[in-house]
Amino acid sequence: MGANNLVACTTTTGQQYLYEGRDLFDRFRETTEEIDRLQSKLREGRYSSQRIRRLYRKRTRRRDHAQDALVRDLMERLYAEGVATVYVGDLTDVLSTHWRAEVNEKTHQFWAFRAFIDRLSHTAEEYGISVGVRSEADTTRTCPACGEQEDTDRDGDVFRCPCGHEAHADLCASRTFLERQASEPVGPMARPVRLKWDDHNWSEILHSPERASPNEKRTNQSTGSQDGKFASVGTA
Ligand SMILES: [Zn+2]
Repeated sequence: MGANNLVACTTTTGQQYLYEGRDLFDRFRETTEEIDRLQSKLREGRYSSQRIRRLYRKRTRRRDHAQDALVRDLMERLYAEGVATVYVGDLTDVLSTHWRAEVNEKTHQFWAFRAFIDRLSHTAEEYGISVGVRSEADTTRTCPACGEQEDTDRDGDVFRCPCGHEAHADLCASRTFLERQASEPVGPMARPVRLKWDDHNWSEILHSPERASPNEKRTNQSTGSQDGKFASVGTA
């Protein structure tokens, strides 16, 4: 959340998507710092300036553009998978527990979480996909292999458990979250699709050839029915 990945998503059809957010978040933070700096230089009695207002607008526009495009890209993928319901982790839990106040404030600004959920819901509706917001408490520290919660460790993007399980932390949490919501077990996963924002589009980051194995390619078993297929959108 925030520093590394904007959205991690897992589907019961065995797909995983990871939208990388580091660059976006860095730029958002840089603009915020520039706004703070300009504000500290304002003459007494003044609270804003044209330049500050322009920076606010720019920051918001850039974020909204990336979030809009993300939601659309994701919904197209989920629709193609035959997903009927999307569960979104309630970020407010995670933010209050795991982030320092200072990070919290900036992350909240970046996410404008309620607005993001609205955006997600509107776009999902166009595709006939329903959205539910659920608590994602403890999903980031629960081992999907053995259920351990106390002794697991997260180091950057890597999740590690004493049982030997090691995985991408956000994708791992997204899967655990999905397993709690879906009434069916979540099977083996295809290689995650990683996406990067280039100011216009979210595009797939290509895999290195030595890791591309045809065995990992999955066939889409969708029969056209959207019933019973779920996805989780973990934003942690
Ligand atoms: Zn474990």
